[in-house]
Amino acid sequence: GGARGPVTVLVLGLDNSGKSTLLNALRPEEQRLPSTVPTVAQQQDSFQSGGVSFSAWDVSGAPRHRALWERHYRRAHAVIFVVDSADHLRLVVAREELELMLAHPDMSGRWLPLLVLANKSDAPHALTPAQVAAALGLERIADKPWHICASNAISGAGLSDGVAWLARQVR
Ligand code: GDP
Repeated sequence: GGARGPVTVLVLGLDNSGKSTLLNALRPEEQRLPSTVPTVAQQQDSFQSGGVSFSAWDVSGAPRHRALWERHYRRAHAVIFVVDSADHLRLVVAREELELMLAHPDMSGRWLPLLVLANKSDAPHALTPAQVAAALGLERIADKPWHICASNAISGAGLSDGVAWLARQVR
């Protein structure tokens, strides 16, 4: 119901997947920045809008930073996992990071909607959402509602569909 407190959405993904660009596109227009800097593990990119608190973390490598984002798992109500659809080589790394997150004690077995953004859908050779879903093994996720859509974080295309799905899940 609508009576709950702020909704916390974790935005996770490898470096360069488009998290900062995405967060900027989701900001209310008057809070948007002319340009963004990439999300780095130590520097949480976050903002609040309409009762929703978004925070982005880079889950690429750097095991020493892992504890930084993992300590946010417990209070997350939803996750947006951002994938560069054109980075075919690192899809396997993205899958590993997604699986690690889903298997974490604070995440596994808990109802928590997962929105996967097959981002950079405009890029040459971008995989389709179905291909990204297959590469990530999404069909194996049994304990969480998940949804994948193509997005272009620069133009904003696809974002409203994805975020509308997420909003329906958490409200
Ligand atoms: P982050 O490291 O995940 O925060 O990634 P950024 O948001 O910094 O984006 C990395 C690069 O990809 C930047 O040069 C962005 O302009 C670019 N980028 C982000 N989203 C898209 C997209 O949907 N399409 C294209 N073509 N480029 C994108």
